[in-house]
Amino acid sequence: MRRFYAPPENFSKDKIALSLEETRHLRDVLRLRAGEKARVFDGAGKEFLGEIEAIAKKATILKIIEEISPSAPESELDLTLAVALLKGEKYDLVLQKAVELGVTNFAPVTTKRADVKLKDAEKKRERWQKIALEAAKQSGRARLMRIETPREFTEFTKSAQGTKILFAERGGAQFDAIVADKKITAIVGPEGGWEDSEIEIAGANGFQIVTLGGRILRAETAAMTIAALLQNHFGDLR
Ligand code: SAH
Repeated sequence: MRRFYAPPENFSKDKIALSLEETRHLRDVLRLRAGEKARVFDGAGKEFLGEIEAIAKKATILKIIEEISPSAPESELDLTLAVALLKGEKYDLVLQKAVELGVTNFAPVTTKRADVKLKDAEKKRERWQKIALEAAKQSGRARLMRIETPREFTEFTKSAQGTKILFAERGGAQFDAIVADKKITAIVGPEGGWEDSEIEIAGANGFQIVTLGGRILRAETAAMTIAALLQNHFGDLR
């Protein structure tokens, strides 16, 4: 069954209003009609079964039949994945995969060798939100991955929470040595790698430095691999 998204404020006691964009998708692409059923999730973790009541030019109204369990349950791991900004489509890919891999929070950071500047990153947020929404629909998540405001590396490391891990290409503890509870912040460096001073700053702010050993992974490969490994060891990918 088709899934649509509506933010919590579009829900009333027994009705849901879909936006213009979702209406276009429902009406023009999927060609659904009044009387048909659809799933709607609110991005905050709830999902409902509804029946299409009216399709107007700019909105669709559904009657809520019942609350249902989300298509895919959320991982018990509260994972913040911080990734140094990368150029163009690579970053879009990382965001999409982060949603599929059950990342809770995504934090874009600038580092000394990052490919994108902070002020340019801010302009990309709208596109990132769209990618995250599409990925949530596709993967069955009812909670949207939160995308934080892009921040500078040092500032980010100071406010990070939970078990804090910086993944380094050059050395550090082994992955198996990680002791973590259900809240983890993991950070992945840029294509150009970390500068020594950044690894020191992270260490001073309570980050464990971990290496996967093996080969040097490209930043986007590292981000996806790390999310999958953490979800496997501490979350719900088994
Ligand atoms: N240009 C660097 C590689 C950077 S890889 C060099 O040639 O040495 C980009 C990021 O991916 C790294 O900063 C790190 O966070 C992560 N990464 C890549 N390979 C890794 C590995 N084997 N173990 C842990 N992290 C890795």
